[in-house]
Amino acid sequence: MTTHRSLINDGNQLKLAVQRSGRLTDHSLDLLRHIGLDFESYGQRLFSRARNFPLSILYARDDDIPDYVGLNTVDLGIVGRNLVHEQGIAVEELLALRYGYCSLVVAVPNDSEITTPEGLLNARIATSYPESARRFFHSLGGRPEIITISGSVEVAPALGLADAIVELTATGSSLQLNDLRPIHTILESEAVLIANPASLRDPARRENIDRIVMRMRAVDAARRFKYVMMNAPEAQLTQIRSILPGLKAPTVVKLDEPGWVAVHAAIEEDLFWDKIEQLRAAGASEILVSALDKLML
Ligand code: ATP
Ligand code: ZN
Repeated sequence: MTTHRSLINDGNQLKLAVQRSGRLTDHSLDLLRHIGLDFESYGQRLFSRARNFPLSILYARDDDIPDYVGLNTVDLGIVGRNLVHEQGIAVEELLALRYGYCSLVVAVPNDSEITTPEGLLNARIATSYPESARRFFHSLGGRPEIITISGSVEVAPALGLADAIVELTATGSSLQLNDLRPIHTILESEAVLIANPASLRDPARRENIDRIVMRMRAVDAARRFKYVMMNAPEAQLTQIRSILPGLKAPTVVKLDEPGWVAVHAAIEEDLFWDKIEQLRAAGASEILVSALDKLML
């Protein structure tokens, strides 16, 4: 494993761990490509080196990533916040990445009379997140029996193994399928970029970490905004300006057509359709919308 040794010994290379194969893998690799990193990721390789940035990517089980970052095997990791929370490891969360959304919830059988977690302080709780569950119930003054199961936690109540579960859910469909209902959210989770605190204190590493973070922010901002161009009567400009939230004031260009202007602005995706309707009502026409690739705010 000479290649692996050279990865570990190369002092100037940043190392980033991502999930090798699972729910976060595609999004994570997309994000890394989108910030301009050129690397190979085919097959079952353990790591690859970016061709155009001093960074190596290590492919790992997601459960191992908080430890790798915490123990400084790698400088950076992309992993679900739920695992950082579960393992209680001292790493810095640098950025929330807006994918891999899920919640860690307490759920009970539909026919249970329990409606709040306070009703479970001495209950039997099945979970694959024992530390998160234990800490949560301790914070309520409870000492439930925690039964650790690594898969299919949802069937535990039906099998008579537990009174309730603590489990991840994204859409709630798996809970529904098993006649369970969530009664409390312990943690909202998504994929996060985490860093080793010592790496952040090292000036040379810090500089490259900041470059990665800046690029990820630009990709994220670009995803959240659309670039909108439209024509409008100059007389309507005040009203149009008041509709456009813009990053700054919109850009206004006079057209050859007297009394008409072109207005350019970036509009946040969430507000997008409402704003377009208001702009049309205010007299804007020929509205052209384009996606942004990167946006440096
Ligand atoms: P590995 O083989 O790497 O250990 P895994 O099977 O433990 O993978 P995945 O199921 O791929 O993990 O989930 C990875 C992460 O995706 C979770 O830790 C969580 O942050 C996130 N996630 C998003 N939605 C869900 C969901 N519905 N259920 C479980 N995890 C989810
Ligand atoms: Zn895992």
